[in-house]
Amino acid sequence: MVYNWPLRPQWLIPSHCQLCLAKDPSGLNLCRACHDDLPWLTLACPRCSLPLHYPGQLCGACQHHPPIFDTGIALFHYAPPVDQLILQLKFAAGLHQARLFAALLGARLAKVPSPDCIIPVPLHPSRQRERGFNQAIEIARPLSQQLRCPLDIESCIRTRPTPPQSLLSGSQRRSNLRDAFALTRPLQARHVALVDDVLTTGSTLNAVAKLLRKAGAERIDVWVCARTHRNA
Ligand SMILES: [Zn+2]
Ligand SMILES: [Zn+2]
Repeated sequence: MVYNWPLRPQWLIPSHCQLCLAKDPSGLNLCRACHDDLPWLTLACPRCSLPLHYPGQLCGACQHHPPIFDTGIALFHYAPPVDQLILQLKFAAGLHQARLFAALLGARLAKVPSPDCIIPVPLHPSRQRERGFNQAIEIARPLSQQLRCPLDIESCIRTRPTPPQSLLSGSQRRSNLRDAFALTRPLQARHVALVDDVLTTGSTLNAVAKLLRKAGAERIDVWVCARTHRNA
């Protein structure tokens, strides 16, 4: 796999920034200057985290058809170099990137009301076997430790493999996720945070939120690393 900026395995240069190679004692392989230069998402729709140019208001889509989840927080625009960090996490088993995202998300969420549990968006077992891990779990696990909030990776499962939403038309997207998720036991939590790497159409997170809502969840927050600029 070819990357367009110098990603290097952290075990080769454990105390250096992975972006500029400056010395970095933080343990995150990200120096302060590169941290500050990341494409932080500061103005966004509070419901679906769509990037906006004005603060504090719902986006047009959420004013008419809000998602089932109640709040959405995305750390970054889906833009360089974060898009490459996420690709590395998913397709090159860059699990140290999951720890980095968890640390940054944890800092961002320190003042957000704590949910009863964190549920990472499940992968179908066949996809998880193929990849060797679920990136949402890898982000959610250290995040749950940092926030001292229980992690639940057993209640919600993916019952069938589904093609990526981005490859489908509108009507295919709607049917693609129908009954794609299920609960394995009654939901105890009333306030749940769903975690995923990227929010693109929001339809996957919405499908899980629908299931949790039906099972009695009163508040559902969505926490993701990055948000694309359009709901498509
Ligand atoms: Zn740097
Ligand atoms: Zn919105």
